[in-house]
Formats: sequence, structure tokens, C-alpha cells
Amino acid sequence: MNKQPSSHWSKIIVHVDMNAFFASIEQRDFSHLRNKPIAVTNGIKGSCIITSSYEARAFGIKTGMKFIDAKRLCPKLIRRPSRPEQYIKVSEEIMKTLNDVSPDIEIFSVDEAFLDLTYCQKIYPSPMYVAQLIKKKIFSQFDLPCSIGISNNKSTAKFAAKLHKPNGITIINPCEAETVLSKYPVTELCGVSRGIQNFLNYHGVFACGDMKKIPISILGNRFGNIGRRIWLMAQGKDIDGLNLISNAPKSIGHGKVTRPNTCDVDEIKKIFHYMSEKVARRMRLHRYESNLFFVGLKTKKGWITDQFKTARYLNHGRDIFALCSKLISKVQFKYGVFQVQVTAMKPRPTNLQHDIFHHSESKRKILDSAVDKINQRYGELTIAPARIIDKLESPDVISPSWRPKGHRKSI
Ligand SMILES: [Mg+2]
Repeated sequence: MNKQPSSHWSKIIVHVDMNAFFASIEQRDFSHLRNKPIAVTNGIKGSCIITSSYEARAFGIKTGMKFIDAKRLCPKLIRRPSRPEQYIKVSEEIMKTLNDVSPDIEIFSVDEAFLDLTYCQKIYPSPMYVAQLIKKKIFSQFDLPCSIGISNNKSTAKFAAKLHKPNGITIINPCEAETVLSKYPVTELCGVSRGIQNFLNYHGVFACGDMKKIPISILGNRFGNIGRRIWLMAQGKDIDGLNLISNAPKSIGHGKVTRPNTCDVDEIKKIFHYMSEKVARRMRLHRYESNLFFVGLKTKKGWITDQFKTARYLNHGRDIFALCSKLISKVQFKYGVFQVQVTAMKPRPTNLQHDIFHHSESKRKILDSAVDKINQRYGELTIAPARIIDKLESPDVISPSWRPKGHRKSI
């Protein structure tokens, strides 16, 4: 740690990580749970632990553990049903507060954010001052604990925040980052999956300090940009910038010009289904979801459109197609169709929903992700709903407001 001014830092990145977020909110909102071992599960009968309080963690209770097994470790463990809406509400309020510290903010997950303070260096006297300011704000406004890590890049700042939990502040001076990291296992870095770990171990890399022994190209050739980034991260030289909120697109849409004057409802449904899958897949690819959809079809008399606001945020093709079906059922098809359009409006990052979806939803997300990976590798529609498996011949029309840049990448 140091209290020196940061004027010599090329960048100042802060990582804020709320501690045992859901459990801390439960303990805050229900005073009888304070200082008690509690586990948050999906519903009152939930079998799997989503997160637990520090009092429970002291017994060896971990996220993902079965509640029955946890109860054996800690017979006094209290089960609390999760309240996702409350967690998201608190999260959004915390993010607004952090936004006041620096407008350059990336919401990384429901309980984590990065702030770039590079352009606010004149306002704040030192990294330690900022860390204490953030802690004070979060504690006084929300009565919740958080850990803060500061360095000159995202990866080192995130690593720093993990070092002292709960309630810690860790500042890693950029010139010391490589030395500090060198003794820690590479698995301590965010984004090192089991597959990457095995690959690194095979090449003799166990601690971050071992990374220098292999050329960057070994990782680059095998894992592309993510591999190259991990090589730099291990040496405290992560170059990834923040994915700022302002980069979110206003809409994500796909349209298609149909066979002129199409009256065949099945064919129109098929095109809508295809567009729905494409919009959903693009949202998932860039980690967005939306609860507002614009659906339309064009006849010689003009556009017939509808807008749907859904109770949940969506990024699954079948859900979006269900909205298209509502529009199709209202249309009498007196005139043939020339074009269709499906657009998700005001998409938001999925990060906020991370970890809190229901179990069945979670299974579907895993399936979606597997299908996306296959289609990315072997081509569009390698796996797709039966209705649209035959490729459509007419060209796609991409919504002009979509700008494929600045979205959160895989780490
Ligand atoms: Mg956390």
C-alpha cells in the first residue's frame, strides 16, 4: 500500500467489489440476521447456495454447495430465499453513487465495478483518498461492506481488491505490480479458465512470475486475444480499457427483405423467427438483454408495427419470436409483405443479472451459450430451431443504429 500521489501513474483504475453482496443485504435489511451464518438460496426450499455471509464462510461454506451439506458443516446455518429485485435495486443505486466519483465507470457484475480515475487525478489527492472516499460513501449510504483495489490496469486492480476481504483497501503501485503478482498462482487472475490453466501448466507456468518464460505467441496462437491479454495480465501490464456505459447501443435490430408481396404466413413466421434468433444471438454475444422490443412488417400500404414491453429482460430467440407471433396474429395479411424488422430497444448489459437468474433459466443460458459457440465455430444456423434451419435466401438488413464497438469482452 502507499499513500503517495498518483501523478506519475499513467492510468488509475479502481475496482470496487461488494462483499458477500446478497448475504450482506439480507443482514442489513433484517437485523436478526446480523452476525449470524446465513446462506442465500433460490426460494425458501432452494437446495443450492448462491452466496453466504462471512459468518457462514468461517465454517467452510462455499457458493454452489448443497444446502444439506452446508448444514452439516454449520448446524445453525439460516437459509434465506434470494430477493433478486432487491439486489438489483441496491446495485443500481450503488452504481449511481460510484458514477459520482468518476463518470468513467464499467459495471462488471451486479456487485463489481471498475472506475477509471485517470482524468480525475486533479480532483483527488491520492489513490488512498479515493478508496477511503468510496468506502465512506458506500458505508454511509448503503450500510454495506466493500473491498477496493487500485492500480493502473483492470486486472491488477481486480486482483488487489481480492487481497483484503471484507472491507479492505489494497493499492498496488504500477512499478511494483509485476513483483507482487509474481508469486501468486495464475489462477488468481480473472479469466483463467480450467482449460487455460491446464495449457499454462503444461508449458511450465504455474505462478504469474513463470509467464515471462514463455513467449506471448504461444498463448496468442492457442487462445487469440484473450491469451495475449492473460500473458500481459500476469506481468501487471493488462492493456484492456473500461467498457464504459456510454458505449451501450441504443438498439440491436435485424431486418430482412422478403420475397416481394409474400402472403404465405408460414414463410413470414419463419423469417420473423430467424430475425428473432439473430437479434437474440447478437445480444448474447455482446452481453446485452432488453425488455423493450419493436416488431414490424412492411406491406405496400406501409409498415404495421408493434412495441412490446416485457416483464423480464430477454435475450433468447424463442421469447422474442413469441412477441413477433403476437403481431402476426393481429395482422390479416390482405396485402403481401415486403420486409420484416425485429429490434431490441435500449439494451442493458446482462452483468446486472449475473448469478441471480432462476435455476431453469440458468440451464437455458448454458444451452444458449453452447449453441452460440458451435454456431460461431461452424457457421450460422449449424444448430437452430427446426423452423429456420433451412437458410433463407434474401439478404439481411442490419439496423443502422447498431455500432459493434466498445462492448464487454470475455474477461
Ligand atoms: Mg463481491
